[in-house]
Amino acid sequence: MARYTGPACKLCRREGCKLFLKGDRCLSAKCALDKRPVAPGQHGAARKKQSGYSLQLREKQKAKRSYGLLEKQFHMYYEMAANMRGVTGENMLILIERRLDNVVYRMCIGSSRAQSRQLVAHGHITVNGKVVDIPSYLVKEGDVIAVKESKKEKPFFQELKGAKIANLPKWVTFDTETLTGKVEAIPTREDVDLSIAEHLIVELYSK
Ligand code: SF4
Repeated sequence: MARYTGPACKLCRREGCKLFLKGDRCLSAKCALDKRPVAPGQHGAARKKQSGYSLQLREKQKAKRSYGLLEKQFHMYYEMAANMRGVTGENMLILIERRLDNVVYRMCIGSSRAQSRQLVAHGHITVNGKVVDIPSYLVKEGDVIAVKESKKEKPFFQELKGAKIANLPKWVTFDTETLTGKVEAIPTREDVDLSIAEHLIVELYSK
């Protein structure tokens, strides 16, 4: 299960926008992008004219990095989406949004996708009563996602108990008393709150 292990904030600075990779820190005054809003490297502050290819590449990198995916995995979602009915770019984002690590993040169990991925990989999360430790597991409508019973007493989950969650997307629910949530519906493109021009990614991959 390969993943990027380099500095996360560098990725935001490279893309020139917040990718929210570090949980609460992203909303604090410690955000590296707020402090140094230029691309990393010696020539990061230099203005560069962007070609069509560069626009497409940056859009792809932004999406890939937001979800913490590497190229091979990300491309696999494009191929799956290309074989589905409907708009390829939208289908691709919806497929990625349905990943279990993302759903755990959307339910605010983990404060970032990286942390949520770890919670899943370490066997803290169940789907319909069974432990699922595969972050790429695709949830379905009606799936019940919960913290494993034997893990609920851990301090990390105790802190979550009874907490008020303000920004829950409408396609999931999560009860902080029982630490149990449900996938109420398959997300739509409107539910994917990332400002990504997915058609540019499709243009890039379909060359
Ligand atoms: Fe990006 Fe968060 Fe780092 Fe800010 S703190 S640069 S939003 S990862």
